[in-house]
Amino acid sequence: MASIDAKATTQEVEGEPPDRSGVQLPVWDSGSAPGSDVHGAQDENSPPLVPLQALDELWFQVSGTVCNLRCHHCFISCSPENHSFWFMTREQVARALDASESLGVKEYYFTGGEPFMNREMEGILEDTLRRGPATVLTNATLIPERRARALARLRDGSRYSLELRVSLDGIDPEMNDAIRGEGAFHRCMEGVENLVTHGFLPIITCMRSWPEEKTDAMLASFRTLLAEVGYHRARIKILPPLLLGEEARRSRGYEETERVTHEMLHGFDMGELLCSRARLVSAQGVHACPILLDAPSARLEDSLEEAVGRPAALAEQACFTCYMSGSICSNAPAGGGWESQ
Ligand code: SF4
Ligand code: SF4
Repeated sequence: MASIDAKATTQEVEGEPPDRSGVQLPVWDSGSAPGSDVHGAQDENSPPLVPLQALDELWFQVSGTVCNLRCHHCFISCSPENHSFWFMTREQVARALDASESLGVKEYYFTGGEPFMNREMEGILEDTLRRGPATVLTNATLIPERRARALARLRDGSRYSLELRVSLDGIDPEMNDAIRGEGAFHRCMEGVENLVTHGFLPIITCMRSWPEEKTDAMLASFRTLLAEVGYHRARIKILPPLLLGEEARRSRGYEETERVTHEMLHGFDMGELLCSRARLVSAQGVHACPILLDAPSARLEDSLEEAVGRPAALAEQACFTCYMSGSICSNAPAGGGWESQ
């Protein structure tokens, strides 16, 4: 099988991602892909395909679609009742972690639903932090002091970093809870305070629900709010809305013209798209990315080893948001420094 070199990594030192350079990923044979000719040229009538350039990030849908909240903007409509995707077991995650080492994965992400609804989450993080850096995307409403302390212990016992990415959608209960539900603001702020007390610098993510020209003022208000719980110079990432699931009902869905075409990709850096360097593992298989969990077009294979040989198809209109906004899923904000600094 033809192969390509995964991207070289940094030297393996304390706190750095593991050095898994020289890993060979299977090359996607574009000539045999549906909608391609024998030279690999893609059919203009089929969705553009993005090959996996390197498997830098491995994501886990660790709590499926189960969440303790039912936010009005949730793009996969998670809730306590949504059991379309169930929790991953520690054993399922461990199997993918084992496979990931020979595939060159440099860091791991955990999402849901709410990851801390998974009773095995701390054990899962313990297994993960033996292999590389981990980030948990959480609403922080299930982080009492005991859990923040346990997370700090895991962080301190690992050579790799543990990041928490906390969703907060407003600067006060009125604004936040209109989207995230009654009581969510206070519970989230308690979680943030517990994390900060235990030495974490959580990445606060917020969906932009205001006109763009108000962003600077909103950031200033977020900074003031977070400083009140001891979090100074907070890392804040403002996200564009993904017009899927509940958000499509709350605001609007995509317009017919909002989709990625072959023409739009001429000269475009595919590395901007998460699907060129990551895959998502759920209890039901492997998917192109965490945004398209429930899109049939994005379910690639049963196993990670098989899925790395499959390209992602930009068949869904959410791909348009990635195309326009860049790295919405990564920890770092698009375009460099933190927006609050
Ligand atoms: S947006 Fe996050 S916290 Fe809200 S329902 Fe969805 S998964 Fe849960
Ligand atoms: S939603 Fe974004 S990351 Fe997912 S397949 Fe589309 S472009 Fe790639």
